[in-house]
Amino acid sequence: MNCQFCQQPTKNAPWENDYDISGWYDCKNCNISYRTYCPNGKVELIRFNVLFRNRNYCIDLDVTTNQTEILLLPQEMDDTIIIVLILPYIVEGLTPQNILSKLETYMTFS
Ligand SMILES: [Zn+2]
Repeated sequence: MNCQFCQQPTKNAPWENDYDISGWYDCKNCNISYRTYCPNGKVELIRFNVLFRNRNYCIDLDVTTNQTEILLLPQEMDDTIIIVLILPYIVEGLTPQNILSKLETYMTFS
């Protein structure tokens, strides 16, 4: 499948595939991951990976639950992921170009 933002082919991450349930496709260009309903299926989740204040965040647009989640990834592999914010809708207009400033805005108000 092609990336929805840069239209370049994405790279399947086979080690992240959970066969019959989901597939993961990465666009390194945009720093975005797509989760599909089973490999090659419909896109269920768009994940923006953002480095903010030296920490790794994910902004997930979950089409299946119709919500946007901001996650803080652990610094150590074994630690848990922290859910920073859940919005009960899909945030519109996010792009790889504006994602950092959008995240900054949300972090200011959360
Ligand atoms: Zn892309």
